[in-house]
Amino acid sequence: MLTPICPLCGGEVVEKDVEKIVKGGNDVAILRVKAGVCEKCGERFYTKEVHKKIEEIRSELKQRTTELYKPIGRTYVYESVIE
Ligand SMILES: [Zn+2]
Repeated sequence: MLTPICPLCGGEVVEKDVEKIVKGGNDVAILRVKAGVCEKCGERFYTKEVHKKIEEIRSELKQRTTELYKPIGRTYVYESVIE
C-alpha cells in the first residue's frame, strides 16, 4: 500500500484518480491511474503495479501496438519555452 505520509514534506497522502501523461516516441497517451497524492506538496506516488503498467504503456506507445487506446485529438508541442 501507499505510504500515508509524504516522505518529502510530511504532508498527508490521499489516494486519488489522477491523469498521467505518458510519452512514447512522438505519441502521447493520457491515462487515468490511482495514485497517492500529497495534499501539501502535490507529489504523486504510484504503486509498483501502476508504475509497471505505465512503463508497459510507454513501450507499447513506442512500438505503436496501441489498439487499446483510441485517439481523442491531437497533442501539440509549443516550440518555445513560455516565460
Ligand atoms: Zn508532500
